[in-house]
Amino acid sequence: MSRPTSAFIDLSALKENLKMLSELHQKNADGSQSVGAKTPKIIAVVKANAYGNGAIEVAQAIESRVDLLAIAFAHEALELREAGITKPILVLQGPHQLVDLSLTFSHNLYWMLHTDWQAEALSAFFAEQNKSSQTWFKFDTGMHRLGFGLDDFDRVQHTYKSLWQANTVVCSHLACADEVIQQHAQQQIDKFLQNVEDSDYPRCIANSATHVRFTNARQDYVRLGIAMYGSTPFTAEDSPITLAPVMHFESQIIALRTIPKGDAVGYGATWQAKRESVIATVALGYADGYPRHAPTGTPAYCNGQTIPLVGRVSMDMLTFDVTDLTAVAIGDTVQLWGDKMPINQVADHVGTIGYELMTRVSARVPRVYKKK
Ligand SMILES: *Cc1c(COP(=O)(O)O)cnc(C)c1O
Repeated sequence: MSRPTSAFIDLSALKENLKMLSELHQKNADGSQSVGAKTPKIIAVVKANAYGNGAIEVAQAIESRVDLLAIAFAHEALELREAGITKPILVLQGPHQLVDLSLTFSHNLYWMLHTDWQAEALSAFFAEQNKSSQTWFKFDTGMHRLGFGLDDFDRVQHTYKSLWQANTVVCSHLACADEVIQQHAQQQIDKFLQNVEDSDYPRCIANSATHVRFTNARQDYVRLGIAMYGSTPFTAEDSPITLAPVMHFESQIIALRTIPKGDAVGYGATWQAKRESVIATVALGYADGYPRHAPTGTPAYCNGQTIPLVGRVSMDMLTFDVTDLTAVAIGDTVQLWGDKMPINQVADHVGTIGYELMTRVSARVPRVYKKK
């Protein structure tokens, strides 16, 4: 009775990626053993429902292998705690409202602070509660989105003295770590390190791309998201790492028809057959998170071959030209992205990135977990 549409989530691929990323610091760029490199503590970023892969299941699978979990905002911690996840959780945007702080101790949250009102509020809250938790301060080194100015480093330490303990972490985030040209990222890293070099506070700069590419940005902590989920943040040709895809987004062919040359397919009749064509209808659409603006020609995988999307994406259905398949039948599996069809290849056609495709897979798609 159920629709044959699922996101298969391969938790062993997740663990494999995490292991590879956790061991990167042991090797130099040329593959030789690196001596004396710092071992960064791993923060697994599970915001946005673990990039669409399911926050609870992902957190359960990796909790024992990482030092911290991270989410974007406090509300995202609730389901993790209800599910019994106990690892401390870092809230990357800090509190959005004063009331968020009331979760600090009950939910074991650490706050990454980026602005004065947050630091004032947290100082006052700790004083009132007569306890504190590890505090993280974010500095803006050139992304210009969040963070205290680096020229504020002394002032922030002085003004919020009570928040600066030996374990207080200084952080930044890079704008261009995944770009081919590395200059902007290197400038941000250098600027950050110059400003904090006289202090002993633990440091955290790297996301996935930064961690992979910039060895001097692997500091006390690294924040890993997309690479753990098996999608490279780099372009395919430029990727220094090979990852195991975690999400396999699949459905089945529910109808097949042959149409004459000149006939059109789908809403708006936007695609016309240039030859007699076999059209497969697949039970997945934009309500499942497949992008509606995916153009004709966007690839999927079926029976060992690549098949092109044709015509408009509907709410619940997609149409593919399967004329060139050697064998095709109703019930055949179509993979939209996963191990057979790299998510970045689909993203390139659609004009987006793997992150967006993954996080948008909607709630009506069952996540089916593969543990072995
Ligand atoms: C989402 C996020 C990350 C993870 O980034 P990836 O590119 O997915 O590794 C790291 N740091 C911050 C501040 C984030 O918001």
